[in-house]
Amino acid sequence: MKKYHETPIQPRPKGVGSVSSYPTENSATKGQVSTVVYDVIVVGAGISGLLSALALSKEGNSVLVLEKTKLIGGNCRTYEVEDTGYFVDSGVHAITGLKKGPLVTLMDKYFSIVPKFVPHGHYYVRDEQSIKKFPNTFQDIIRFSFIQRKEKLILSKLVIEAMASMRQLKKTDVSVYDYVQKYAFSEHTLRFLDAVSYFLSGVSMKETPVWRIITGGGLVDENEHRLHKKITNIARIAINSTYEEQGYPRGGIGNIVHCILQSAPKNMRVQTSKEVIKIRRTGKSFVVQTSKESYASSMVVYSAEAKKLAEVADMPAKWAVSAKKIRQSKSITLWLGLKKPLKVLNYKGSEVWFRSGVSYWAMPVSNYDPYLAPKGKQLIGFSTFMPYEEDAAAYEKKLLETISSAIPEIKGNIEMKHVQIMVPEKGAVSVGVKFPSVKTPVKNLYFVGTDADMRSMGITRASYSVVELLKIYNSKKTKTRKTKNTSQSRYQREFLQPLKDIRQRLPASMVRVRQGLLR
Ligand SMILES: Cc1cc2nc3c(=O)[nH]c(=O)nc-3n(C[C@H](O)[C@H](O)[C@H](O)COP(=O)(O)OP(=O)(O)OC[C@H]3O[C@@H](n4cnc5c(N)ncnc54)[C@H](O)[C@@H]3O)c2cc1C
Repeated sequence: MKKYHETPIQPRPKGVGSVSSYPTENSATKGQVSTVVYDVIVVGAGISGLLSALALSKEGNSVLVLEKTKLIGGNCRTYEVEDTGYFVDSGVHAITGLKKGPLVTLMDKYFSIVPKFVPHGHYYVRDEQSIKKFPNTFQDIIRFSFIQRKEKLILSKLVIEAMASMRQLKKTDVSVYDYVQKYAFSEHTLRFLDAVSYFLSGVSMKETPVWRIITGGGLVDENEHRLHKKITNIARIAINSTYEEQGYPRGGIGNIVHCILQSAPKNMRVQTSKEVIKIRRTGKSFVVQTSKESYASSMVVYSAEAKKLAEVADMPAKWAVSAKKIRQSKSITLWLGLKKPLKVLNYKGSEVWFRSGVSYWAMPVSNYDPYLAPKGKQLIGFSTFMPYEEDAAAYEKKLLETISSAIPEIKGNIEMKHVQIMVPEKGAVSVGVKFPSVKTPVKNLYFVGTDADMRSMGITRASYSVVELLKIYNSKKTKTRKTKNTSQSRYQREFLQPLKDIRQRLPASMVRVRQGLLR
């Protein structure tokens, strides 16, 4: 039976709670190729690399993960801000598809302990007076008072038309801007559409494909293309329940990584501060090189950026040119620790601001898990995209000014400020760009992460790519079952037990019997 891993914040034993504190091994042979031939080497210990490593190690392979930084988790981490008692995530996060999405598929099959997710609640839009539910059904659109009635009716009609012609829209890759251009919407409505585009794809409405808004908004099932489904899709707009499938993990987003590491078998090993600089194929295996050591494996799963893969491995020119076209966005997140919880932020959910200044997405995370802030305080994160060329300090100032005018109660109540600048996904879904697939042109070199699959976003997208990897792996495994058993027994002798320590230190209060993910 599976166990819950509940909040790691209280009680917080030494060494648990920050993903960087997991024991890792450093056993490479300097300047030489390691004598161990791993079944799989995974490049990168972000969520996609770790999910791949967990699944492949549980399938019986010896797996080595090489991570270039000192930290495990990539963009999926939770850490304390300098002994303040505030625990922030790497960006504001809500996890999608918690009823039947790809992360759930992987958790069900490979996790021994799963995070406890709190239902996300509603998305809201704030104006100077109040917050209102974000419109994602017909009823909501009609009630949504931030947009003029006439424009709301046109928008509803456009949404239905787009839902009915998804195949065509995917083929032509029309942008949101081009799709709505002829209707001469007001500046206000265009700002709203731009904010939604950034929110769902990471780029402006001029670069966001219309199909992305429709699938990202949960109006069409992105895995379903059959005709009869189109009809039911139209009905979905009346009862869009996608947001009910979203949640936030107690203990913060890094708790998903905790659970992966705690579910890891002996044959999965993680090494940090190991930047992979070269991947070479020699005969049937690979040599994976870091600045000091080399490791050998029969299969490589690369989870860093596609465009960088062409720099470390010999990829066909066509593949490299296509990968280089992938666009990336830069995000800024401002975490604010508040001296006392504010009435205006007394909700579970997220809010979007688009009316003036910098459009942002905010989430009061301590409302989901009070232990993320010191007792009696509140923690809220504000994430937005920023132009690459913009000065970070200047943009932070603009963002804070916008927040102060949108939520004046915040002024004079801030006791902790923490800024993060990150690239949220390795690839933004943008017009004219195709992501490479998980299977690369190089035999046994695979590629996962947020630029390997165009479905959904963030962690769900990363999980989709891992599910694809496993489909390919399983179809091959059937053909080569005999060989696999041999390498497994060789492997068992070679590995240490890096995670045993952590399991022993987990207090009983942190694990519970699993009773469904969202609660
Ligand atoms: C502000 C913000 C908000 C977000 N909101 C959400 C949300 O609400 N919902 C959601 O699902 N997702 C969200 N995300 C996105 C989500 O966090 C990421 O998409 C996901 O964590 C990416 O995982 P990944 O493994 O694909 O990539 P990464 O996390 O980027 O991991 C890649 C890893 O590879 C390592 N690496 C790179 N090069 C090398 C090399 N040469 N050798 C060895 N290691 C290497 C990196 O150091 C890194 O650890 C958000 C992200 C941000 C920043």
